[in-house]
Amino acid sequence: MAETSKAGPSMTGQQGTGHSGTGQRGTAFRERVRGWLAEHAPGGDDHVPEASESAPTEQQLAAAKRFQAALFDAGLAGLTWPAEYGGQGLTAAELQIFQEEAAAYDLPTGVFLISMGMCGPTLVDLGTHEQKARYLPPLLRGEEIWCQLFSEPGAGSDVASLQTRAVRDGSGDWVVTGQKVWTSGAQYADFGALLARTNPDEAKHRGLTMFVVDMHAPGVTVRPLRDMTGSAPFNEVYFDDVRIPADAVIGEVDAGWAAAVTMLGHERVSIGGSVRRRYDPMTFDSLRDEARARGVAGDPVVRGELAELYAAERKLALLNARLRQQSDAGLAPGARGSVAKLAGAQVLWQAVRVAGLVVGPRAIAWEPGDPSGDALALAINATPASSIAGGTNQIQRGIIGDRVLGLPKEPQVDRDVPFRELRVGTQAR
Ligand SMILES: Cc1cc2nc3c(=O)[nH]c(=O)nc-3n(C[C@H](O)[C@H](O)[C@H](O)COP(=O)(O)OP(=O)(O)OC[C@H]3O[C@@H](n4cnc5c(N)ncnc54)[C@H](O)[C@@H]3O)c2cc1C
Repeated sequence: MAETSKAGPSMTGQQGTGHSGTGQRGTAFRERVRGWLAEHAPGGDDHVPEASESAPTEQQLAAAKRFQAALFDAGLAGLTWPAEYGGQGLTAAELQIFQEEAAAYDLPTGVFLISMGMCGPTLVDLGTHEQKARYLPPLLRGEEIWCQLFSEPGAGSDVASLQTRAVRDGSGDWVVTGQKVWTSGAQYADFGALLARTNPDEAKHRGLTMFVVDMHAPGVTVRPLRDMTGSAPFNEVYFDDVRIPADAVIGEVDAGWAAAVTMLGHERVSIGGSVRRRYDPMTFDSLRDEARARGVAGDPVVRGELAELYAAERKLALLNARLRQQSDAGLAPGARGSVAKLAGAQVLWQAVRVAGLVVGPRAIAWEPGDPSGDALALAINATPASSIAGGTNQIQRGIIGDRVLGLPKEPQVDRDVPFRELRVGTQAR
């Protein structure tokens, strides 16, 4: 995994440990954040879904953008990002304080998770000065939203097998043709971080390049895809001769794999550490309250499962706090992001088990007027996605085995074969 410069995800909505921010500076910052949130955080009924959760309405999106702009104006956006590009240049300690305070609210920041947890940090690491100056301030103000264009119908876990082509024309511009899939938030994104094949004569990991693509450019078509919760959080995206200027390359031409690994590291920390908000029905707090309300909190099996969930949430919080501290010390997440991502998915599955015990059959069919019935059913149906998005649990285990535990690598017989000769995707015939 790439060990690049420091840039942890500086989003809100991540879990804290409740033990940070000692010292005068921390106390003053906490008071400032607490005061600002008390005045500006929207009420609990205004939930705006995350990019991978479901599609927000236009009003929700507008409200999210207004809130992010206010956060930026208050000097509370991009806490650990460089001040030169609109960030605050603060440390992981302040970020953690912010997240601890924000956890008491249902802030409408989920639509920015990909922009601020993945694309932004990758630009901080690899972008040119011009790219950072152009893209990071509007991203932090919530004016421009980003999506991640990696997966394709024939390239998910093995994303290096992707077939979307970018070919340089006489003017130096690139012309992109191909299809992406499962692109969260593409329907309202302004820019995407696109991974495309620029040299099929190289082996599959070597001929890729990452680009900034304008999602409003001619030739970009976005079609929503519905998941089993009934909503359409992600999309198919088609590129038909889409022109991309030469200065839109992120990192180096044909070095897109390193850029992708950098972004995936940020993605895994960001997903693993994200969103156990107060109003989330799948947290220990919510499920304990639900158990009390339904009169099952005294059941020894429910109590045991709740205690296990509490312990798992605390362990995850401590793991994420450690990752943030490492990030602050200049250590990019690398393969450690896979541990956080896997642990985050496992905690959610544990919560599903508890939810099933607490609400029983009402998890799939509930009486009219039961306020938690549909929210819980939705959360339960959304949980399998957590084991797939951002790399499946099996893939995370493979990475952890190889790069964290030092176990032997999985055999990769196609690693040094020119991509053109591989039988993958539509090349398979
Ligand atoms: C909610 C959601 C949001 C998403 N958002 C985005 C997005 O914004 N942008 C984007 O680019 N992608 C996105 N994705 C796509 C996601 O990254 C892929 O779904 C994921 O990488 C798996 O790829 P796949 O679906 O093609 O499954 P496959 O790769 O076909 O995997 C199928 C099964 O085989 C297993 N498998 C495959 N290879 C191995 C191996 N080497 N060892 C062990 N098991 C293996 C997998 O674990 C899985 O169980 C999203 C997915 C979801 C569910």
